[in-house]
Amino acid sequence: MTIENTPVLIVGAGPVGLMLALDLAWRGVASTVVEARPAGEPPSVKCNHVSSRTMEALRRLGLSRAVRAKGLPDDYPNDVVFRTRMTGRELARIPIPCRRDRYRRNSGPDTGWPTPEPPHRVNQIYFEPLLFARAVANPRIKILSHTRLDSAREEKEQVVASLTDLGTGETGTLRARYLVGCDGGHSTVRRLIGGRLEGDAVIQRVQSTLIDAPDLLAALGSPPAWMNYNYNPERPGNVLAIDGVRRWLVHNYLLPDETEFDAVDRDRCIRAILGVGPDFRFEKVANEDWIGRRLVADTFRRGRMFIAGDAAHLWVPYAGYGMNAGIADALDLSWQLGAVLSGWAPDTLLDAYVAERKPITEQVSRFAMNHAAGAIQERNTLPAEIEEDTPAGEAARRTVGEAAYALNVQQFACAGLNYGYFYEDSPVIGYDGEAPPAYTMHLYTPSTVPGCRVPHFHVADGRSLYDLMGEGFTLLQLEKTAETAALVAAARERGVPLTVLPINRVTDRVPDAYRHALLIARPDGHVAWRGDRIEDAGALLDLLRGASTRPATTDIAPARWS
Ligand SMILES: Cc1cc2nc3c(=O)[nH]c(=O)nc-3n(C[C@H](O)[C@H](O)[C@H](O)COP(=O)(O)OP(=O)(O)OC[C@H]3O[C@@H](n4cnc5c(N)ncnc54)[C@H](O)[C@@H]3O)c2cc1C
Repeated sequence: MTIENTPVLIVGAGPVGLMLALDLAWRGVASTVVEARPAGEPPSVKCNHVSSRTMEALRRLGLSRAVRAKGLPDDYPNDVVFRTRMTGRELARIPIPCRRDRYRRNSGPDTGWPTPEPPHRVNQIYFEPLLFARAVANPRIKILSHTRLDSAREEKEQVVASLTDLGTGETGTLRARYLVGCDGGHSTVRRLIGGRLEGDAVIQRVQSTLIDAPDLLAALGSPPAWMNYNYNPERPGNVLAIDGVRRWLVHNYLLPDETEFDAVDRDRCIRAILGVGPDFRFEKVANEDWIGRRLVADTFRRGRMFIAGDAAHLWVPYAGYGMNAGIADALDLSWQLGAVLSGWAPDTLLDAYVAERKPITEQVSRFAMNHAAGAIQERNTLPAEIEEDTPAGEAARRTVGEAAYALNVQQFACAGLNYGYFYEDSPVIGYDGEAPPAYTMHLYTPSTVPGCRVPHFHVADGRSLYDLMGEGFTLLQLEKTAETAALVAAARERGVPLTVLPINRVTDRVPDAYRHALLIARPDGHVAWRGDRIEDAGALLDLLRGASTRPATTDIAPARWS
């Protein structure tokens, strides 16, 4: 087995590994991806939600339109609905625009967000192959399918990895400057770096089945939806529309005493969730049973080896933030690896990865777990009369519907999870003492506090700020007289890519959060620094590129636009 050496070896061509490879390639860095599955073998039917934040990254990579074109039919409602059973009565509905209306509809809880790319509802079986095809076509990415990473060790500033071709049984060695394990929940790389998962091992067992049911759409108790919760005391469950025609993923939430997946009568439970009798026609395509957990690895790195995505954290997929949080890991690591391998940052920059991502994954895992606790409680306390055709039944449906809406709108309109998180204790951010605004799963307050996501706006001609930002750092000049030359010169001296972007406060639609004359955006769209003037441009840039641990001289004079 002859394998060329590579700057970055990525283990796993799941969504996280593929996004890492594509983002590195966009930054000019080549990588090799090893994947145990044969090329073309689809992933299992798991993730159904590509977050707005992930869509923003896909937009930068030129892929958001192609991703949005995948999934449910153009006019299929992306709503979340709560019914007693699929064929039963509707209790409540969270409206979410269908693909056709996604960019223009502005009513509903997940519209009008400050982004050029709202979320997209699409299953991983459509999303992942698209990433794979783009990665295969990219000259900077080499994919070794049907190849397994067996072990790896560090040697002379390199990682030496042992691989096996699973088709031929041949083994080989590959040398890389860095290795990133995006190899999922059973990660080999996590083991190699000595990482241990910590948290709650079992929160909920879910018996999931992909079914083919050509007659279900026409039999629904109310208009179609993307996600369909079913609240009845016999068997609560959740059903996802996969192709908007006949494929559905049925989640059967097992009761606490149902600890063996195979001991629960799958067919009977599916029929109860659907609300259909023994004659209703459906075929089981695949079983996708899984356990909802809340586990985060105690470390995400050892030396030149990193882990990201499910390899680093696993939690109940509430708010659709398993894959998306993993992709956020990949994007954080990508710009840092890109900077180091392009030679404009020392490898101390990479210390920021664990400092930034580990606390966020802890936070998100707790949001998801708290939500899971609320959802489990809701399912287990359904009033017995909820399906009755009586005033008591009517009242029960209203009460449960209102509660279900209030609880779940937070996870399905999770602006806070998308935009609210901030890097609070990073060694490469120029903090100025102001605390970032708190966020919840649902609520987001735009802020330019260093560490937060750069608040989005459209410039006068309608273009998105994000489309104008450079590949490296971007210096937003929000006041014409603000001095930029020293930073430009310091960047040139150090080879740091820097774009200066003049902003017109009068004509551009600048949010109130922008209170300073200058703001430096990082390559990943987080605020690196803000102020009215830069005292020592070289020192500031060295801090931001990981070349100094000395706090930057930051102008913290009261902002002029507060
Ligand atoms: C029912 C369900 C619903 C979900 N819904 C959502 C959702 O709506 N939104 C969301 O964000 N997330 C969701 N998730 C979570 C999401 O599916 C995962 O977080 C995501 O797939 C993780 O991606 P990954 O690339 O880290 O790992 P994986 O997708 O597991 O990919 C890892 C890859 O590594 C390969 N691999 C492993 N070991 C090796 C080795 N030694 N050598 C070579 N290759 C190897 C594997 O073959 C695999 O292809 C859901 C999960 C479940 C179970």
